[in-house]
Amino acid sequence: MNITAIYPGTFDPVTNGHIDIIARAAKLYHKVIVAVAVNSNKAPLFNIQQRVELLQQVTIIFDNVSIIGFDNLLVDCAKQQGANVILRGLRAISDFEYEFQLAGMNRRLSPELETMFLTPAEQYEFISSSMIKEIARLGGDVSDFVPRNVQHHLIEKFNRG
Ligand code: ADP
Repeated sequence: MNITAIYPGTFDPVTNGHIDIIARAAKLYHKVIVAVAVNSNKAPLFNIQQRVELLQQVTIIFDNVSIIGFDNLLVDCAKQQGANVILRGLRAISDFEYEFQLAGMNRRLSPELETMFLTPAEQYEFISSSMIKEIARLGGDVSDFVPRNVQHHLIEKFNRG
């Protein structure tokens, strides 16, 4: 059976933690679709186009990974894309409660879709997009946590005020 996984998130911006999950998924599934949520209620720092572009640049090395934006219900987007697995990353116990609830709700909405979780390598467990933005905003060095293109965009964004 050909398994297509959809990996949804805000990716504001993509971090080395996300990339670690994508790299693992690319080895496990025939196709991986990274689905970037427009998510206007989170008031993202980067607009949808920028978030998609940054992801496209860092995943160019994987020939079975593609990037899309979406603003509808995830289970509907998954269906449209022919995905049979929803992929999420788990960092710590603190992620678990929310992810468990989300997986349960998505199963109610679409019982044929399975949610699967991957954990990142140890050095990425503490990385979150929101913490990266805070460090960059305050002038800290984020080069260990995000790819080079993201680092440049963060510097540009915050230098311009
Ligand atoms: P969302 O707004 O849906 O939480 P994120 O972009 O923050 O979107 O995260 C997308 C997915 O990637 C989530 O499942 C999240 O738990 C996971 N994730 C985020 N950061 C990491 C990381 N450092 N390591 C592993 N998974 C991560």
